[in-house]
Amino acid sequence: MAKPLAGVTLQPFWWDQAPRDPIARPDVPKEADVAIVGSGYTGLSAALTALRGGKSVVVFEAEQAGHGASSRNGGGVGNFPFKLSYSQTETMLGEANAKQLWHEGRASVDYLEELVEREQIQAHFVRSGRYLGAHKPGAMAGLRRDVAILQDKLDADVEIVEPGEQQSHIGSDFYHGGRFNVRDGVVHPAKLHAGLLERVRAAGGVIVDGTRVTGVRCDGAALIVETARGQTRAGQVAIGANGYTDGVLPSLKQRVIPVASQIIATEELPAERVKRLVPRGNMIIDTKRTVHYYRASHDGRRILMGGRPLLRNSEAEEAAPYLRKFMVDVWPELEDVRITHAWGGKLGFTFDKLPHIGEFDGVHYACGYLGSGVAMSTYLGHKLGLRMLGDPAGATAFDGRNFPTMPFYKGNPWFLSIVAAYYRVRDSIG
Ligand SMILES: Cc1cc2nc3c(=O)[nH]c(=O)nc-3n(C[C@H](O)[C@H](O)[C@H](O)COP(=O)(O)OP(=O)(O)OC[C@H]3O[C@@H](n4cnc5c(N)ncnc54)[C@H](O)[C@@H]3O)c2cc1C
Repeated sequence: MAKPLAGVTLQPFWWDQAPRDPIARPDVPKEADVAIVGSGYTGLSAALTALRGGKSVVVFEAEQAGHGASSRNGGGVGNFPFKLSYSQTETMLGEANAKQLWHEGRASVDYLEELVEREQIQAHFVRSGRYLGAHKPGAMAGLRRDVAILQDKLDADVEIVEPGEQQSHIGSDFYHGGRFNVRDGVVHPAKLHAGLLERVRAAGGVIVDGTRVTGVRCDGAALIVETARGQTRAGQVAIGANGYTDGVLPSLKQRVIPVASQIIATEELPAERVKRLVPRGNMIIDTKRTVHYYRASHDGRRILMGGRPLLRNSEAEEAAPYLRKFMVDVWPELEDVRITHAWGGKLGFTFDKLPHIGEFDGVHYACGYLGSGVAMSTYLGHKLGLRMLGDPAGATAFDGRNFPTMPFYKGNPWFLSIVAAYYRVRDSIG
């Protein structure tokens, strides 16, 4: 194991500008039209839409509000938030369904943009694009193919970047050219979360934090939401727990795979230096299967490097030296730069590598964003809210498909290290 980095704060850099509220544990309301489990983007977005439609809403959160991935993520906002290529989706679902799914990927970013504008949430949302670097020369052929398909099938705003043009996307020769997603963006994730939380509260939503939901059962036409501190009788219930999904709905736990991911932040650097390294301040990822994601901070003063550098669900402290090493591989000049923050959180993966929205035993859910959920969870949360209102606009292509599980899988992803080891080998082949 690499030596832990000294003097690092083990909490998200984002919380410095958007501190988390201390847990208040208000009384559990006896009744609500809608009860929501989870106070991340999915839960809050669902709550806001239901509240604006006139419903009374309670949001249950086991820890402090926004404890999950929504206040911890990298803040990358992508129009193509899938782990499958467009062609793979088409093979799996047919052209019409694949197109609908991918169009909704784009719609999720449009929705986020419209939401922050409408609600006046100051979260530094910028359509700065996304650079996808080719980690080996041979990877450019795949990127060229993808760009041609995305332009042809979806009229997508994507471009090939030749190796000689790369410096306007990343101040490094680490990659062999790449692809630029022009309409992708970045956001300050914790400010986005704090803004949503504030709007939900202002609209009359009750946030019951520090209170884990332990079960949901039917009682006639109503649902009883159970916690150790009392119960709520609700007309409808929605779960937005993603990578933090527990046993509230056993059927859901058997379908969501929790996957840890970590991020480090550097000390403050001169703005000109950061601008040279990440000229557009945008998200950078690469073609490796063991992916890294990185960007400049919202204020253009730090580099944030994220990934899953170890072969298992590790802690941030353990992963940080490996993330730092990759950062120095990309930019050797950062060798002497200090790391100030290291943190992690949990992503929600699915067996078919696609997000899902639906209903088990009369309880609604949306989850499985596979590490690309900033826009998608906000969008599908909104769809959940519309469903609570009985609005047909709650329909989406992410519903109605089989939500697969694996025999004997009960929520403990023992197979992750095997998959990661396989990816490492694939990445290392020239
Ligand atoms: C380190 C990291 C980096 C990421 N980077 C990006 C990125 O750059 N771009 C991108 O698009 N996506 C990224 N993601 C993914 C994105 O953050 C998530 O997809 C999204 O935030 C999911 O939101 P959510 O509301 O569904 O779940 P979460 O925000 O994870 O919230 C779930 C909440 O449910 C609560 N909960 C669970 N069970 C219960 C219960 N029984 N009772 C009460 N409460 C419960 C949990 O405590 C938790 O707070 C990243 C994620 C991580 C962890």
